[in-house]
Amino acid sequence: MAHLQNHPTVLRFKRERAAQSNEESPRLADATLRELCLDSGADDVGFVSIDRAELDNQRAEILENFPWARSLISIVCRMNREPIRSPARSVANLEFHHTVDHAEAAAHTIVAALEAQGVRAANPASGFPMEVERFPGKSWIISHKPVAVAAGLGQMGIHRNVIHPRFGNFILLGTIVTDAVIGEESKPIDYNPCLECKLCVAACPVGAISPSGDFDFGACFTHNYREFMGGFNDWVETLVSSKDAPTYYERTSASETASMWQSLSFGASYKAAYCIAVCPAGDDVIAPFLTNRAGFLKEVVKPLQDKVETIYVSAETTAAYVRRRFPHKRVKRVGSGIRFSSVESFVKSLPRVFRPAAAEGVNAIYHLVFSGAEDYAATISIGDGPDSRKRVMITEGCVGHADLRIAADSQTWLAIVAGDRTPAWALIRRKLRLRGSLRLMKVFRACFAA
Ligand code: SF4
Repeated sequence: MAHLQNHPTVLRFKRERAAQSNEESPRLADATLRELCLDSGADDVGFVSIDRAELDNQRAEILENFPWARSLISIVCRMNREPIRSPARSVANLEFHHTVDHAEAAAHTIVAALEAQGVRAANPASGFPMEVERFPGKSWIISHKPVAVAAGLGQMGIHRNVIHPRFGNFILLGTIVTDAVIGEESKPIDYNPCLECKLCVAACPVGAISPSGDFDFGACFTHNYREFMGGFNDWVETLVSSKDAPTYYERTSASETASMWQSLSFGASYKAAYCIAVCPAGDDVIAPFLTNRAGFLKEVVKPLQDKVETIYVSAETTAAYVRRRFPHKRVKRVGSGIRFSSVESFVKSLPRVFRPAAAEGVNAIYHLVFSGAEDYAATISIGDGPDSRKRVMITEGCVGHADLRIAADSQTWLAIVAGDRTPAWALIRRKLRLRGSLRLMKVFRACFAA
């Protein structure tokens, strides 16, 4: 260490530092940065400061991971439309995977170029890998959609995907975090490209998108993401609980097994994503919808609706929807594969798995009181939001009068949620106690069936 001050690297560092200005954060001209991003493979780009109000609910987490963050660069990479629309989902998945790889490569190139200029930058994944040790809690460290909307790259459609004004929803998003201050920030676009045509509602095989804009995350997660985390866990549970090969094949077909192998080998495949396939919004996309609507429905929407396929459901309400709307599709009841490690993480997940359709006509307050391995209490309120849509609110502790009080041993409750125990089993053993309207227990399970 005695020679550190005279080491060539240290001497070079001191010379370069002396030549730099005293500014705390480097500054980047927005025009130059835009050019860099487009040259690196992005199809569009926008910039937002970490202080923007649109980032309020994720700023803390971004700063936790990147304490030096000052600005975010949001990039869009365009997907080819026809592959995404194909009923052969291997074709669509190839396009999804290819564009994800392209977006990651573009973000990597941008980060490398910024680093070469002495600017700190990092690119959290467009999708995976995530911090999956947190699963089933929130595994991603940045929500790309709000960043893209703030950066003027589109607005959210009814189907909860960002619609770019030109490319429509045929895009994938990436975000680069940097310590630089960027010349001119982007502003959100002043209209929503979503046409409110509801074709996404009509095409979704599990009814996850309601015409009012409510979204049933559980239904989407169970089917579309069957070969991702939850569905994979459920498949493993089926495998290990089968006493022999014939029992396993009674529960799981050879083609489902091969499909899981394919996802493990070539990247997890989406089962549907039909909402994206049928969306006609965007300047580059809209022509066939406007010029020949009947032809568009016949060529793009109907083949997906008519496709004979297995639809994975974990809730009876979803099963009933599929049987009613798509009687030619096979309904398969599966577990969600979601296992919570704590009752607190279960409670915190409730807004994400809330099924507004099951809460129709419900205004109720629940007290959840857990004891045993984990002492935790929360108030869950189901009611109408300011826009008259059903909302769920979580407050720690017991607040106000409960229509139903659920008191449970925490480990028993987690076993009920995982499907290992039934409420009746727990009630008989007094590991679950209910006080109030018992009907609301059924409502609770329907509203939060993951
Ligand atoms: S399909 Fe229609 S309603 Fe759905 S997001 Fe696209 S434009 Fe909006």
